Amino acid sequence: MTDLNQTYFDRARKVIPGGVNSPVRAFRAVGGTPRFVRRAEGAYFWDENNKKYIDYIGSWGPMILGHGNPVVVNAVQEALKDGFSFGAPTLREVELVEEILKIMPSMEMVRLVSSGTEAGMSALRLARGATGRNKIIKFEGCYHGHADALLVKAGSGLATFGNPTSAGVPAEVVQHTLVLEYNNVSQLEEAFDLHGKELACVMIEPIAGNMNFVRASVEFMKRCRELCTQYGALLVFDEVMTGFRVALGGAQSVYAAQIPGFKPDITVMGKVIGGGMPLAAFGGSRAVMEQLAPLGPVYQAGTLSGNPVATACGLATLKEIQRPGFWESLTQRTQSLVKGLASVAKEAGVGFTGDSQGGMFGFFLLPELPVNYGQVMKSDGQKFNHLFHGLLDKGVYIAPALYEAGFVSAAHTQADIDETISTAHDVMRTMK
Ligand SMILES: *Cc1c(COP(=O)(O)O)cnc(C)c1O
Repeated sequence: MTDLNQTYFDRARKVIPGGVNSPVRAFRAVGGTPRFVRRAEGAYFWDENNKKYIDYIGSWGPMILGHGNPVVVNAVQEALKDGFSFGAPTLREVELVEEILKIMPSMEMVRLVSSGTEAGMSALRLARGATGRNKIIKFEGCYHGHADALLVKAGSGLATFGNPTSAGVPAEVVQHTLVLEYNNVSQLEEAFDLHGKELACVMIEPIAGNMNFVRASVEFMKRCRELCTQYGALLVFDEVMTGFRVALGGAQSVYAAQIPGFKPDITVMGKVIGGGMPLAAFGGSRAVMEQLAPLGPVYQAGTLSGNPVATACGLATLKEIQRPGFWESLTQRTQSLVKGLASVAKEAGVGFTGDSQGGMFGFFLLPELPVNYGQVMKSDGQKFNHLFHGLLDKGVYIAPALYEAGFVSAAHTQADIDETISTAHDVMRTMK
């Protein structure tokens, strides 16, 4: 049988760089042929060879209800009938923002945009504009989209700022970005000591999903909050992945439960908020958000911002994830996946450790959970590739790179989870 995935990938590579419109889709880290998706339903998708997979990527997070949830599909179809885009205000934008504010009490106002990158970039400009400061702190292993100032790796020391991680980003553009080690309290304190009064913000993935799954410790988060407050810098939570995913109220609700009175100053949202449509957002206090144009001096705009079809999709998704019992069962099934994988790994003698929160999980082929990027990178890439391709052959689709998180949706049944665990067992037995 001809492999249509290969046929289409060959065709794609002639006209699209690498054959893909976002690099990780190309399977460069794991090798092999990317699956071209023909259609998806619930917890599954089918590739162009009509092979079925249990999907643990869910479009990298947005599909928390699974694919083609009938309530969401209906909302999108109804919205489409009224038009695709107007470039003028609509009631649904107000309804969506009101819904977000109801769910996440740290914000008083929100602006809608079309991608997580755009939201993060705008939040950064807002933080700088609102504080009148230029310098920012980010952490190694955290991804905040591909805006120039955020494509940075650590420099040679705390007194020096970062180096670009991409060609095309001038060193001057990242000269204000300081990159620190995640979960390193003393380094954070030292950086504030040196630069605190010039810092516009600390930007952080509170549970980092772009180095697989690494939690900020409660102590570290508490210090981030205290130091920002003390020095007048803003704490920016990038919850593009964790928002409406690790808990209804996002990672900030998880930390607020452990740190009395805790909240970030600005929250960046994406992924689940659009239910699979191009929609993202950022929000904060009224005082900060009123710095944005047309009220304030910080410019920000978008032709398709608050798109009527995307907002319909997002609003229906946010309503569905507030059904009684939703989070209990999603959490339970995600935990049962990680626990099951850990137990078959142990039986197969494969070093394994995993963690999850709500419907987001991660695992490492390491004896202990890592707490920073350096430790994540010690995970065994070759073993991971073996596991990845073994699972893929047998119809289980996990992220094609060891530094990516995984996602369980409400459409995954316990039977899907059990099948995944037993498939993983079969693959792990061949891994010694
Ligand atoms: C996905 C992601 C982004 C970027 O969002 P895009 O919609 O891909 O531009 C930013 N921050 C985090 C934490 C993300 O996971």
